[in-house]
Amino acid sequence: PQKRKILVAGNWKMNGNLALIDSMSQTFATQDFKHVDVVVCPPAVYLSSFNEPDFAIGAQNVSHLDGGAYTGEVSISMLSELPVKYVIVGHSERREYFNESNELIAEKVYKILECGLTPIFCIGESEQIRESGKLFGFLAEQLDAVINRIGIQAFNQLIVAYEPIWAIGTGKTATPEQAQEVHHFIREHLAGHDANTASGVRILYGGSVNAASASALFSQPDVDGGLVGGASLKPTEFVNICLAAE
Ligand code: PEP
Repeated sequence: PQKRKILVAGNWKMNGNLALIDSMSQTFATQDFKHVDVVVCPPAVYLSSFNEPDFAIGAQNVSHLDGGAYTGEVSISMLSELPVKYVIVGHSERREYFNESNELIAEKVYKILECGLTPIFCIGESEQIRESGKLFGFLAEQLDAVINRIGIQAFNQLIVAYEPIWAIGTGKTATPEQAQEVHHFIREHLAGHDANTASGVRILYGGSVNAASASALFSQPDVDGGLVGGASLKPTEFVNICLAAE
């Protein structure tokens, strides 16, 4: 079977400024990616500030509500009027610092799909869960929240990102074998519902990916790209990660 097209997404988190938008655009202007989809996810205030055909734009979050008296929130219909194609949802930082539950995240995935945008749906375990031997059950619950709310067909239109929390921002990348083991589990779990959906869904790895680790990770059979945090703030490093997928 044909391998799924690699996707590399950069998550700026609450970092960056107008100068970084300029230097990112200049660095990408000299590239022409054919075999990799590139996505940049800046803070919400910068979603309209890019004028760059070489990558797509993603938001880092969206409200589960449609509109109204919810100070500080941004709705999916607002995002859909901007040049935004993707929305990160369920990032471990949102789960941990903003108390987002599996159910809330499933609701956000529903809203994003309803508006025709593509969720980048993040799951992943803490070190404690991995060490307690509950890894696969924990990830299955995170996946099942979306399956229960929307159905397995949601996975025909979204991208999964496996991000072990112990590897995020720590410099401690999962080995390619560790990533492959979990990505294979995710695909098998989805295949239990629908084999076609499972074979088509792109599963990204996230957790301290850099230009040195990218190609070994991306060459694993079930790793279809990366969600990149810290290294996505360095234009040359980020381009080199994307080149590892070309
Ligand atoms: C992330 O937060 O999505 C991430 C993977 O961060 P980092 O690459 O910095 O570990």
